[in-house]
Amino acid sequence: MSEAFDAVEIISAKRDRNELSDLQIDWIVDAYTRGVVADEQISALLMAILLNGMNMREILRWTDAMINSGERMNWSSLGIPTVDKHSTGGVGDKITLPLAPLVAACGAAVPQLSGRGLGHTGGTLDKMESIPGWQASLSNEQMLKVLQDVGAVICAAGAGLAPADKKLYALRDVTGTVPAIPLIASSIMSKKIAEGTSALVLDVKTGSGAFMSDPEKAKELASVMVELGKRAGVNTRALVTAMDVPLGLTAGNALEVRESIEVLAGGGPADVVELTLILAREMLDAAKVSGKDPEVALKDGSAMDRWRKMVKAQGGDPDASLPTAKEKLVITAERSGTISSMDALKVGVSAWRLGAGRARQGETVQAGAGIEIHAKPGEKIVSGSALFTLHSDDSERFERAKQALEGAVSISEKGEVAERLPLVITKF
Ligand code: URA
Repeated sequence: MSEAFDAVEIISAKRDRNELSDLQIDWIVDAYTRGVVADEQISALLMAILLNGMNMREILRWTDAMINSGERMNWSSLGIPTVDKHSTGGVGDKITLPLAPLVAACGAAVPQLSGRGLGHTGGTLDKMESIPGWQASLSNEQMLKVLQDVGAVICAAGAGLAPADKKLYALRDVTGTVPAIPLIASSIMSKKIAEGTSALVLDVKTGSGAFMSDPEKAKELASVMVELGKRAGVNTRALVTAMDVPLGLTAGNALEVRESIEVLAGGGPADVVELTLILAREMLDAAKVSGKDPEVALKDGSAMDRWRKMVKAQGGDPDASLPTAKEKLVITAERSGTISSMDALKVGVSAWRLGAGRARQGETVQAGAGIEIHAKPGEKIVSGSALFTLHSDDSERFERAKQALEGAVSISEKGEVAERLPLVITKF
């Protein structure tokens, strides 16, 4: 079969900073998904896009082409509004776990398709899989059943959803072409639009532990994604939020599940509770649901009930003990004073080296590995008291994990605290 375009022409056009036409974009995304265009050709095009950018028309069309590469899900039979949240990822970002059942308890349905961690940021599915028996893969029919019975489902995206993104993302990962705003925005939004949610709240992280460490770039990404969502008829909002300091007091799979359960039980660290409530209110507002207030649902046990049902519906045992690591190492403060700063990236890399994350796709993660943080910026600490506890199944991982933490924390004897990003920096 003769092809409508020639890949080299399209690569050359972007290399020379020209706009790609709608038909060129449709063809290249489809031809790559069909296997007609080679990986090395798409790699060159992705690098040209990273270096030379795309305008809004090109990004919209690229996103549509990725959506059209697969199926589009539809939840209209549920009869209640659907709303999802997507975070661009950070250290200790376990918010999806309490948030999905919480929003369900307040009256909206949450079809949450999640991913696995790569690099220093954790993934929701890895965290959930530390619950004994819990299954990430559901068919579309099973997903609908869990949504009908529980109101919230957290699961892996099936093979039929934006297959073009699956191929493109894997290639970007090994060609240094992940951090391009047109590519990130189209990748995230193609999956969210194909998922069929009617409203969407994006949590775009910025600061050292985030993908987009520069707040200006994070704002640009947020505004492009909101535009893509709105043009596809999804009521989309974005919050740009802080990831200069880890969220909460844990980074690592089972450790983060434990902390999420504390939040669902009405406790938990203040920053995790605050961000969970902010995002829950934003989601309910975007879905136009004015049911129970999320703070009440955390206190009265209704969010916890949904969590337990959601875990059980996917084969998990909400009463089972969570896995723990075989080895622990406590790191103590070298002097007394006030914690003035804590670098999210260093804590994330350390947790990753302990076995909480993977260096390559497909590797297994240790459920119990990670870091417990005993004091956060602004808190006082006494020399010799515990600052972090490292958890891993292999004690030989401790050395490199400790190296990653070098310089992660500064302690001020004068009680000074370094300036921090506000929890919510801006909204779109
Ligand atoms: N998450 C995605 O799904 N895609 C990206 O490109 C980046 C983060």
